[in-house]
Amino acid sequence: MTLAHAAPAVALLAALTACTVLLLREGHRGRRKPGHGQQRPHSQHIGTAQHDRDAIKEHDMTRRRTITRTCATTGCRETSFVEYIARRDIADLPAKWQCYRHSKPDEVLSVDNAQTTAVLALHPSYVTGYTRDDPPKLIGHFWGPEGAEKGNHGIVQGPGFRAIAADYPPGTRLIITARLELPATTADATEEPTR
Ligand SMILES: [Zn+2]
Repeated sequence: MTLAHAAPAVALLAALTACTVLLLREGHRGRRKPGHGQQRPHSQHIGTAQHDRDAIKEHDMTRRRTITRTCATTGCRETSFVEYIARRDIADLPAKWQCYRHSKPDEVLSVDNAQTTAVLALHPSYVTGYTRDDPPKLIGHFWGPEGAEKGNHGIVQGPGFRAIAADYPPGTRLIITARLELPATTADATEEPTR
């Protein structure tokens, strides 16, 4: 058989295969009996969706790149890795980067900086009306830094506390303090830990 003769057969086979996949996907839904929906999601029985997902994942992996930036502070070796696929994903990424220790030194607790305090306030949040003439409507209050234009957090939490913005009257401030309790002397710190 020549290639010219074989081609239609191959095309037909390909078409049949495509139809079979289509039937598997669509047909399953069609055969569903009343009450069948209570069982596991039917996509799990087919497998083709998972194959698609794997293929997409694999495809993405091959295109994934990493940009590496080292802390801009002289002598610091902290490094940041950012994964991206397209160049436009990192278009807004500043070339200069500083690690947490050097970008927010006041927030990092240390022997010399054993206590930090942050103050949050409740900021009102509004939505615009249906028409341009409607006044903005108050939808609630959200936590944000004191002095900021608006708040974004309905709940603020950390170890040992949780503050739900909706629970307090406007004007409430949240004062969060973290304090290190260092050992009495430096000699204590170098001792072997007792068990
Ligand atoms: Zn640094």
